Order: sequence, then structure tokens, then C-alpha cells
Amino acid sequence: MKIAVTGGLGFIGSHTVVELQNEGFEVVIIDNLSNSSEAVLKGIVAITGKTPIFEKMDLREKAAVHNFFKKHNDVAGVIHFAASKAVGESVGNPLLYYENNINTLVYILQELKDLPQANFIFSSSCTVYGQAEVMPITENASIQPAMSPYGNTKQIGEEIIIDVAKATNIKAILLRYFNPIGAHPSAEIGELPIGVPQNLVPFITQTGFGIRQELAVYGDDYPTPDGTCIRDYIHVVDLAKAHVIALQRLLNKQNLDKVETFNLGTGTGSSVLEVIHSFEKVSGQKLPYKIVPRREGDVIEAYANTEKANTILGWKTVFSLDEAMASAWKWEQKIRN
Ligand code: NAD
Repeated sequence: MKIAVTGGLGFIGSHTVVELQNEGFEVVIIDNLSNSSEAVLKGIVAITGKTPIFEKMDLREKAAVHNFFKKHNDVAGVIHFAASKAVGESVGNPLLYYENNINTLVYILQELKDLPQANFIFSSSCTVYGQAEVMPITENASIQPAMSPYGNTKQIGEEIIIDVAKATNIKAILLRYFNPIGAHPSAEIGELPIGVPQNLVPFITQTGFGIRQELAVYGDDYPTPDGTCIRDYIHVVDLAKAHVIALQRLLNKQNLDKVETFNLGTGTGSSVLEVIHSFEKVSGQKLPYKIVPRREGDVIEAYANTEKANTILGWKTVFSLDEAMASAWKWEQKIRN
């Protein structure tokens, strides 16, 4: 069974391609390499022994999207990762984000609706909840006004999918990720941030390796046990496996609604200092860091209530924070040596 994976050479996409191939799916990757490299294919092959089909193309080109689905009209589903994801960049260049995250989605749905198997998995984010009032966060928590154009593209994306599913034969699952970290345990694939990492864990591993001088911890006076912000860090392999399960749910017609939504997290919140200590434990070295003033726009805490995903999808995370940090550190060392 053939599955199209957009952004399949990116961080989460590449790990999902591995899990799909391990489950026997044939994968066709679409990627324009704007935030990834063709070398990722080698890593996927090293782990799975199978080479996915790779179509290098830009999803912003409507005609190219049309031609792709004409050629691959036998796909049984699409997992849509391709997007731009840097929150700060989206504030400075909102049109890039609306074009790359919204136009591309529309073009794909326009083609998918005419296919016999119109199954769609969408990468959404816990940012849709903003600072939720109740922890852990359930899927019923209210959606808060987006704090960036990037966050807005996830909210608008979800709404578009809901509207389109009502009017067509498209069935979709919206997956709201918490904070994906780590790398494949083989260290054949992992996160490859371009420039200064936007996310905590690659910043930590780069600092541990000496590429960055020190980590800035934004605020230690938040109302949390150690004063630093709390997030739900999920190992990317756990996250990738959830996509395969969600896809199988649609393929097996087990979905209860045309659009279903699931939180994907561990259910446990970890503070920035806990993540630093986890790195120090698994790497056996001290991490240079300093406390700096709070950063605008950071929510205090966000961690998932995973009951819906645990019971309805029958999925739950298996990797600990230490295991995720160890895999991220192994990957950092591999790519630097
Ligand atoms: P990533 O940047 O590593 O992967 C995205 C991939 O899509 C890249 O390989 C990029 O080259 C490709 N791409 C981007 N625009 C494209 C286009 N127009 N045409 C073809 N390919 C294109 O990002 P990721 O961390 O793997 O994230 C995947 C998805 O998950 C994104 O939609 C992101 O918004 C969402 N998400 C990520 C996180 C996170 O912390 N990583 C959290 C929540 C949601």
C-alpha cells in the first residue's frame, strides 16, 4: 500500500517514513529540501533496508501537486508534514508562512478529494491551546488566539480540513504534537536545524558539543516548582509510530468521525532545568547555561492529557526523557564527527 509523505526528509517526516516502511508500507516522499537534505534518504535506507520513492518538488506549485497525484493516484493516504515551522521567522515573514503552510494544504486537499482513498493525517501543534487553564491539556481545551503567524497556520489548517472533510470524502486525523525531541536510536537520522536552533534540545546538544557558548534559560521566576517553563518532551520515534497507527485507523475505517483530533505527548511535563539535568546525566558533562529574563510569548506550562490517544488509538509513549536526550546526544556527536 502506497502512502505519500510530504516533508518526508524532515525531522518528524523521516522518522515516520522509517516506521511506515517497517510496517510494510510503500512510501513516496515529497520534499523540496528547503529544510532538509537528500542525504537523509541514506539514513532511512540504512535503518530499513528499503529505498522510498523520492519526488523532489515544491508543494507551492499547484501544477506540480496536480501532476504528482495524477502519477501517484494509487496512494492510500497522505501524511502532511511539509511546512515552515520557525515561530520567530513567521512574525517577520507572515506571507511565507501563509503561502507555505496554507496554500500547500489547499492544493493537496484539492487533489486528495478526488482519490478513491482520501485519507489525510495533519501535523498540528499544541500551540493551538496557548496557555491552557487546566493541566494536563485535553483535546477539548479551548483554542486560544494564535500568538504568531506560524501558530495561526496550524489553527487555520485544522479549520480548512474540518470544512473540506464535511463537503468531500476526505477523512482526516489532526495530530497535535507537544515537543518532539531526540533521534532514531541508530543515529542514522535525527534533527538537522539550519543555523541557530530554535528548539531547546538541539541548542543543548550543540552547546554540549561546544558549537554554542552557553544556553540561555528564559526566566526562572515562573510559578513552577523550579521557576522554569514546563513542556511535554516526546521522543520522535514514539511520535512517528503514532502516525502509522492513526493512518491504519483510517485505512481500517475505525474512525468514529470524519475528522478526529489527538494530542501526542508523554503526559508528563519537564522543566527546562530538568531537561538540562537529563542532558548532564546522559552525557556525563556539565552544560554551561545562564538565566536571562523571560521571553515574550512563552507559555508557562503545557503538557498533554494523553488518555484519548492511549485509549482510542491504543498508542502510548515508551521512551523516557533520558532516553530521548541520550539519542539526541548520540546524533549530535555522529553528525559532528
Ligand atoms: P522539518 O522542517 O524538519 O520538516 C519539514 C520538511 O518539509 C522539510 O524537509 C522541508 O524541506 C519540507 N518542506 C517545507 N516546505 C515545503 C514545500 N513547500 N514543498 C515541499 N517540501 C517542503 O519540520 P519537522 O520538525 O519535521 O515538522 C514537521 C511538521 O510538524 C510541520 O508541519 C511542523 O509545523 C509540525 N510540528 C513540528 C513541531 C516541532 O517541534 N518539530 C511541533 C509541532 C508541530
